[in-house]
Amino acid sequence: MVSDQDVLTALQSVSGPDGKTPLPQSGALSGLLVKDGKVYLSIAIDPRQSAALEPMRAAAEAAVKKLAGVANALVSLTSEKEPPPPAKPVQRSIALPGVSNIIAVSSGKGGVGKSTTSVNLALALSALGWRVGILDADIYGPSVPRLLGLKGKPETEGRTLKPLTAHGLKAMSIGFLVDEEEAIIWRGAMVVQAIQQLMRDVAWGELDCLVVDMPPGTGDVQLSMAQNVPLAGAVIVSTPQDLALIDARRGVAMFKKVEVPVLGIVENMSYFLCPHCGGRTDIFAHGGARDAAAKFGVPFLGEVPLDMAIREQSDSGHPVVAGDLEGQYAKIYLAIAAQVKASLEKGHARAAPKITIE
Ligand code: ADP
Repeated sequence: MVSDQDVLTALQSVSGPDGKTPLPQSGALSGLLVKDGKVYLSIAIDPRQSAALEPMRAAAEAAVKKLAGVANALVSLTSEKEPPPPAKPVQRSIALPGVSNIIAVSSGKGGVGKSTTSVNLALALSALGWRVGILDADIYGPSVPRLLGLKGKPETEGRTLKPLTAHGLKAMSIGFLVDEEEAIIWRGAMVVQAIQQLMRDVAWGELDCLVVDMPPGTGDVQLSMAQNVPLAGAVIVSTPQDLALIDARRGVAMFKKVEVPVLGIVENMSYFLCPHCGGRTDIFAHGGARDAAAKFGVPFLGEVPLDMAIREQSDSGHPVVAGDLEGQYAKIYLAIAAQVKASLEKGHARAAPKITIE
């Protein structure tokens, strides 16, 4: 059994934020939890130093991992001192210094068009002038490579993975790295750890927005992601049926609980456009998501019809927004993206630091 004391002894060899004082005496350790051979450690730092102190974080992780009996170690830099974490990993443990906004695209269940929305939203944000990345964290059905027509494995540079690029987006998928069949049996904590590692170890560079295609559902994995990743907001995708909307409500509640702003709901497969006659049919009571958004008190971002063209273009690696920006569906996604961008910009204006002149 590894004890807290063992961990602290191992950390004597690592210098704290000042580069001199050993970590345990530096006063910067803000949380330590040892559970089932896994060590979660947080170090409180000045957030402006997060890039400079990354080697310290890595050294601490390496020192702890070397301890006999430690199965894994997760060391995170946090920007404020926190009490030792309860029985779950430390809060908001990921810092991506070059990325201005990380947003989650989430759905209550699979198959509602979450990945299609993620990819087209990312492309639309890029068309609006932002530098955009997409992280496919849908461990149970990674589809971003197919949607963007990407093949092959990412190149590595030391411990860093280089994202692939498609249609001007930087893209990384958990599907490039792990075997789907293996990942399906992973327990929640392992999934969260894999996704966090993927965020941290990819050379995203400077981005205005990183769109995360989340695993479907509102279980422990999603909750833990929402807690650990500093999300600027979440977009929820739902189809209009009542059952799907009940799941969407859970999604809204989950993000609200962990204080992640819900940027809004997208109604996908909102109505059916017949490819033969062009006629419109409301297969599932169309408009349900708009009503639900009003009820939950979150914005309604737009409705995307069920149309063969969307499926065919997505599945052939040319999502609708990658083609003609004047196209009817590209316009819908551009309007959704414009609202998301405006909310994120407003959020930053609110969160701007106070400047005092002495
Ligand atoms: P999820 O990520 O929620 O599992 P996907 O985005 O992978 O869902 O979509 C599931 C399937 O439905 C895919 O084949 C996709 O091309 C198709 N699809 C998604 N949205 C639409 C739409 N609006 N019209 C037609 N097909 C769609």
